[in-house]
Amino acid sequence: MAKTVDAATMRQINKKYVTEMIYNQGPLSRIDISQVTGLNKATVSSLVDELIAEQFVQEIGLGTSSGGRKPVMLKINSSAGFCIGVDVQITHMKTVLADLTGGIVYKRIRPMDATHGRLSQGQLEEMIIEEIDRATHQAPPSCHGILGAGIALPGIVNYRTGSAFYLPNIEIENWDVIGALSQSFSFPIFIDNDGNCGAWSLYRERQERNLVFVNVGIGIGTGIVVNGQLYRGSNGIAGEFGHTSIAAMGVVCACGSYGCWEQYASEQALLRYLRESEDVPEALELSPNLVSLAVEQAATQSGYQRAFRTLGQYLGVGIANIINALNPGLVVIGGTIAQAASLFLPEVEYVIHHRAMATNKHVALTVAHEDAIVVGAAQLPIAHTLLQSPLAEV
Ligand SMILES: [Zn+2]
Repeated sequence: MAKTVDAATMRQINKKYVTEMIYNQGPLSRIDISQVTGLNKATVSSLVDELIAEQFVQEIGLGTSSGGRKPVMLKINSSAGFCIGVDVQITHMKTVLADLTGGIVYKRIRPMDATHGRLSQGQLEEMIIEEIDRATHQAPPSCHGILGAGIALPGIVNYRTGSAFYLPNIEIENWDVIGALSQSFSFPIFIDNDGNCGAWSLYRERQERNLVFVNVGIGIGTGIVVNGQLYRGSNGIAGEFGHTSIAAMGVVCACGSYGCWEQYASEQALLRYLRESEDVPEALELSPNLVSLAVEQAATQSGYQRAFRTLGQYLGVGIANIINALNPGLVVIGGTIAQAASLFLPEVEYVIHHRAMATNKHVALTVAHEDAIVVGAAQLPIAHTLLQSPLAEV
């Protein structure tokens, strides 16, 4: 039997649709919105009036006319409220307070060591609560206050139930994140995989409907946008390219398998290449500064340059596999490794050129800005409450 939707529900759906258009493509006029959505002008005007009364949308003056009166342009009122984003990585936790369009008004990086169970689930929860609390106190006065907090996690996450099934490098399993954190705050909490947060952020920035975000930190996570929607797979855990094997009997991985891509193209791999290098004498450890220290040393030392080139070759192998499988319009490399782009990107491009097929050789490849994931995390509350949230669909 066909599902029926009452008028009030339909109005809410249309309101989210209109908000999303202004959010992703603004400034826009009411006529622009009507033409793209197919909603009649009276409905669009009424929904826009409601959004203006709620202060989520504002008029910003007149646009250009294609004949007739100049239209009034609309954009999201970025200071109507704020969201908190937390990017939990293995060596650090980054927290931001962002306005409604992702503008960062506060940022803090907290070093930590969560490698292989060194941090308990309870300790991690305490840290996240402390960081969200700190960010809350940085919020300027606004109409809607804090709309919510979004947390990016490095592993297999169920955004619907709010639980993390498995964070391989932190060694935490079956963690009810929202259950543990939500009672500490008066606003809602959302979680997602870090690669998905990066993909969501880049999709908004670049408006590329088929893209892959590759987050390279201690491990590798990816977020896949297919035809403007996040591809999550049948159980919501798609995108674990970091654990696809590129060497059948290769290096053992935290996931229990062998030869996983992240063992050859992540910070763990960089560390191994540096330790194996005869002309890198320092005793190096995983730390939030590993990549920046290595970049500094690479300015004068060939051992460091060689380690980045080797990493780039393996990064290229994995990305060529992804490109051949998905034929995206854009691949974005993000995470801590992105700051070393000049040292590894030529190798990635070389490998893609030789291993990707046909037009896949020419897929656009770029590097994300350092806050792509945490800004994506901060936009989760907006995606889940104000927008249609195409990226939240399984
Ligand atoms: Zn693995």
